Amino acid sequence: MAETASPRMKGRFTTCELVRREELTEDLIKFWIKPAEPFVFKPGQYCTIGVDGLERPYSIVSSPDEPEIELFIEVVPYSEGGHLTPVLDDLEVGAQMTLRPRAKGIFVLQPGFKNHIFVGTVTGVVPYISILRKFLGDSGYPEPADGVAREDYNFHVLEGASYDDEFGYDQELNELASKHDFIKFYPSVSRPNEERNANWTGAKGRINLLVEDYVAALGVDPKETCIYACGHPQMIEDVGRRFADTDYTFVEERFWKED
Ligand SMILES: Cc1cc2nc3c(=O)[nH]c(=O)nc-3n(C[C@H](O)[C@H](O)[C@H](O)COP(=O)(O)OP(=O)(O)OC[C@H]3O[C@@H](n4cnc5c(N)ncnc54)[C@H](O)[C@@H]3O)c2cc1C
Repeated sequence: MAETASPRMKGRFTTCELVRREELTEDLIKFWIKPAEPFVFKPGQYCTIGVDGLERPYSIVSSPDEPEIELFIEVVPYSEGGHLTPVLDDLEVGAQMTLRPRAKGIFVLQPGFKNHIFVGTVTGVVPYISILRKFLGDSGYPEPADGVAREDYNFHVLEGASYDDEFGYDQELNELASKHDFIKFYPSVSRPNEERNANWTGAKGRINLLVEDYVAALGVDPKETCIYACGHPQMIEDVGRRFADTDYTFVEERFWKED
């Protein structure tokens, strides 16, 4: 574990402390980290954390207004080529990590659209949670852009997972959707017939196969609609292809590349 940054890292790194962790499933963990210095980011951006010089980027779940940075991490076992995540999985509360001082990323709320269709697989839901938390907690966000008033914003979160215990933020999203007409949550499991999904009563099938019909049923103006895709590279490619020759705007964030 990196107690402090090595001399080589000096000046380019700050540190953070793991202050809370929660295991969602065997391979999905939530981390709450406290930066040693103020850490500025926009909802949708990512931070880069590291242990012993090994670093990876992680999109941020929390709103910039929260005191800690929340992360939602899928552990890739060593046997499947994972490097940092098995190390993170072993960390205990109180552990120190390095943190790049600047947040990065352009996968943020796109200005000028009334309808925001957030498509994600498992951890790909992360940037959307940050955007929604900020939107709901800060009446000044986003700054008025291209004539879209705050009350004209509509958010649709479409999340796919193999199993219903992998959504991560389904409780929060269901609560938001029940409180606010302008937020909808549409989760789908891709392996509905497996025992682990025995209690699942929602949508079934890969989320990329459901997006077109979902969006068509909304009857929204494509020019006023931005479709975001984040998470599994195959899902992103497929959704991108489906909306390629349309008037919808499409933006993406890939967490990893297909081998
Ligand atoms: C901008 C950005 C934001 C990211 N945000 C998140 C996030 O919020 N949560 C998160 O868990 N990860 C996120 N990642 C991925 C993360 O940076 C790591 O790649 C991942 O955690 C695996 O790290 P590793 O060192 O264990 O394995 P790596 O050495 O990074 O990768 C090992 C192998 O696993 C593959 N792989 C990486 N991630 C996965 C995955 N989830 N499922 C299946 N195969 C995978 C890689 O393509 C590679 O073949 C993000 C990546 C980017 C570029």
